[in-house]
Amino acid sequence: MNRLPVEKNEEWELTIDSVTLEGAGVGRVDGFALFVPGALVGERVRVHVIKATASYAVGKLLEVAEPSPHRMEPACPAYARCGGCAFGHVSYEEELRIKERQVKEALTRLGGLSEVPLRPILGMDVPERYRNKGAFPYGRTDRGPAFGFYAPRSHRLVPVEDCLIEQKGVCHAVSAVKTWAETCRIQPYDEGTGKGVLRHAVARVTTSGDLMVVIVTRGDLPHKKELADALSFADSVYWNRNDKNTNVIFGDSFTLLLGRPTLRETLCGVAFEVSPRSFLQVNPIQTEKLYGAALDLLSPQPSETVADVYCGIGTISLLLAQRAGKVIGVEVVPEAVENARENARRNGIPNASFLCAPAEDALPKLVADGQRIDCLTVDPPRKGCDPQVIDAILASGARRMAYISCSPATLARDVKRLTAGGFTVEAVQPVDMFPRCGHVESVVALTRAGL
Ligand code: SAH
Repeated sequence: MNRLPVEKNEEWELTIDSVTLEGAGVGRVDGFALFVPGALVGERVRVHVIKATASYAVGKLLEVAEPSPHRMEPACPAYARCGGCAFGHVSYEEELRIKERQVKEALTRLGGLSEVPLRPILGMDVPERYRNKGAFPYGRTDRGPAFGFYAPRSHRLVPVEDCLIEQKGVCHAVSAVKTWAETCRIQPYDEGTGKGVLRHAVARVTTSGDLMVVIVTRGDLPHKKELADALSFADSVYWNRNDKNTNVIFGDSFTLLLGRPTLRETLCGVAFEVSPRSFLQVNPIQTEKLYGAALDLLSPQPSETVADVYCGIGTISLLLAQRAGKVIGVEVVPEAVENARENARRNGIPNASFLCAPAEDALPKLVADGQRIDCLTVDPPRKGCDPQVIDAILASGARRMAYISCSPATLARDVKRLTAGGFTVEAVQPVDMFPRCGHVESVVALTRAGL
């Protein structure tokens, strides 16, 4: 067998040239790429190679001989084991630069753009305690059962009592569930054996401080009365039963144990009801900036019909409806569509309607049926738009669109298809929805000339 340029278990010293969106430094050994999680640009580092393939290797950081001026002491004691905060060791200014660069690079390399009309990334003033939702698995650890997060690429639970990117209300709720579980001796669910009971505590808070908690169990929920007492301060408590051996958090059945069926969150002046299964952006402060940017870039007019594809509970749809003639939202999760319709009704917005269907079926059908679409927004999950959605956009009469994306790679892939179909990228606005974490959101405004 041929020797690889870098072999497993070797030690190397190298200088880091760039950083990936996942927070890994990248350096070269005789031109061969070595990824070093936690290393920063310009740093001279010593690494132990833990994985080597024919095209790249991964090294564990042993020592930073020459630290970057942007390196900082992680604020979280669980940083090194948890892996949730890819940029916990970097100044926030540098993190924003890395993210901005990643969006630009993806659009150049994968999106085929020669010029990227990039606007400066919109960051947070205080990049902490922003998350309004946390889903904490419960499991065994060296120190007994605990809530926490899984270590990177593993199902080894790292206990985390107080996550510094979660709002306090989320951590407080999870800690109340822990006290209940300990007092009532509820067994943690074990993925390996499929035995045990308590799988997850999911908590969501609104800007005004209202709280929803969902307890996920395998089998029946024991000690319901004690749970209701432990969470009496919550505004809504659900039990979700999930008997399947799966990574998906929620099972099919939600039972309301306490309080109201939905939470109400106000974004950009509009109040939205949210069910436990419905998607809501996790960073409320940045969400208003993101929606504001999308609306300004798209600039819907009173005479226009606008489609909002992947609309969730109708957040963007209802904001669009305040400016446009008519809005059609498309969303696959039935509970979210119910929320969207109810949200339109409660806010007295008559010109928004919603279709509950996969976008890849609904949009092609709307276009084939001759539905007028002057402009549109798409906000797909990480995997981006299905090719049928892109084809339907190209076949529609839309001349402007705002593509909102949480994945620069799939965004770039789809932008390439859209530009090949006649669209031009007018502006790219990155928004840091996930400070400290290896994700970045962007809005891309595209237009095309008359058809
Ligand atoms: N624009 C909304 C939701 C964005 S998240 C907001 O800002 O709140 C993406 C949404 O796409 C989720 O609500 C998800 O349920 C939905 N979704 C996922 N796959 C879909 C598909 N194939 N067709 C339609 N909607 C889908």
